[in-house]
Order: sequence, then C-alpha cells, then structure tokens
Amino acid sequence: MKLVILDRDGTINEDSNEYVKSADEWQPLPGALEAIAKLNHAGWHVVVATNQSGLGRGLFDVAALNAMHAKLHRLLAAVGGRVDAIFYCPHTPDDKCQCRKPAPGLFEQIGERYGVDLKGVPAVGDTARDLIAGVAVGCEPHLVMTGKAMPLRGRTLPQGYPDNTTVHQDLAAFADYLVAQG
Ligand SMILES: [Mg+2]
Ligand SMILES: [Zn+2]
Repeated sequence: MKLVILDRDGTINEDSNEYVKSADEWQPLPGALEAIAKLNHAGWHVVVATNQSGLGRGLFDVAALNAMHAKLHRLLAAVGGRVDAIFYCPHTPDDKCQCRKPAPGLFEQIGERYGVDLKGVPAVGDTARDLIAGVAVGCEPHLVMTGKAMPLRGRTLPQGYPDNTTVHQDLAAFADYLVAQG
C-alpha cells in the first residue's frame, strides 16, 4: 500500500493563529487539493493527521470539525481527489495525551487501522512537531514551506527539525517530487 500522511492546517488549508473554527474559515491553500488528486492518480492513499486542540479549548465542537472535513472532502472530490481518513487529536497540551503531535499517537493509530508498518511512509507538515511525530514511527519527514513554515522560506532550517527532512515549497511541489520518485 502506497500511503502518505499529511498534516492539515498550513499544509492543505490556510492556517490561522486564531484557529480554524468553522467550514467557512477552512480555505484550501492554492494547488493543495490538486496536489492530493495528483498523488491519488499515482496510486497513493492519503490520510490526514491533525492536532485540533480548538476542540479541547472549546473554540469549536465536533459538528463544526465534521463540517470542515465535509468541505475538504467535497472540494477535493470536485478536483478528482480523496483522502481516506482524517485522524485528529482533540486534546490540549494540558491533557498530556499520547496523540497530540509531536507525540506519535495519531501515527500509531493510522498504522493500526491500516495494519501497516509506517517505516518509510512520507509524512508531510509545516511544523517540526508534525515531522517529529512521524519520525518516531519511522516515517520520512517532508516539510512544506507554507503555513507556519512560511517565515522560513529562503532560510536555513533552524534546529529542531529531523536531520533527514526534505523541504518543498508547498504540497504541489511535494506531490511532484513523490510522483517523480515513482
Ligand atoms: Mg500545520
Ligand atoms: Zn490527543
């Protein structure tokens, strides 16, 4: 099974320091949905792993999260793509859970759900914690320079990113890269 694990906010859709709290506020990044469709057409299954502490903080509820994801699925289907599943952590840092990235719990859940070893599976995100969570279960770290990583464009990566991190301008560039790998 060809599997890719993507972060959500700042990787697929616009991030917000005030949290993405509704379907209206959920806006795809330019080219991101087309990038997922391109991966699908090359045989890749795409799964999302996302921290959603806004739930635990009471900023939005599960119905609002479901509405955001319904929008994601609808807009993605319109360009011929799909994500197989969205795994989310609803907790705040105070909950000390095992699923809030950089903890690897969401990735472990994905491995269990699909019955696959995640060794070598590409994990894509816009923050170090996305990559650290993936590397903990053997994933390959890929940083997209969108969302929280925007200020790093054109600069040397600061400390805290896995040594084997590969950098891409955005999700479209990542998809081009992965599809070219075959
Ligand atoms: Mg992110
Ligand atoms: Zn959690």
